[in-house]
Amino acid sequence: MQDCIFCKIANKEIPSNFVYEDEDCVAFNDLNPQAPTHILVIPKKHYASLNELDDVKIMGALLNAVKNVTKKLNITDYRTVVNTGKQAGQEVFHIHFHVLSGRPLNWPPG
Ligand code: 5GP
Ligand code: ZN
Repeated sequence: MQDCIFCKIANKEIPSNFVYEDEDCVAFNDLNPQAPTHILVIPKKHYASLNELDDVKIMGALLNAVKNVTKKLNITDYRTVVNTGKQAGQEVFHIHFHVLSGRPLNWPPG
């Protein structure tokens, strides 16, 4: 989608170092990390949020990509977050899974 920053990252219009890539997904470091490891996993195809994601293949591909990223980085303890909608903290409207690790993470979240 035009003017979507994560589409530009996914289609390599904006050069980034991918931590991981497969047919459907890419993963890269968050620009403003909230933990020593903070990776974003996104589908290459644009879906604004989980509300718009209607393809179970891509849903599976995203979770599979999260697992492959954590395996690749040897992370066993991590938090996966998907903010959906402005009130829930979503700022970039191209669905993304946050993967946070490397420090104690409080629960419940704020
Ligand atoms: P949200 O608040 O939508 O769940 O998360 C958006 C995340 O994207 C934030 O953690 C923010 O730091 C990150 N982000 C925003 N713009 C960019 C960018 O251009 N590059 C990267 N790598 N991360 C970004
Ligand atoms: Zn997009």
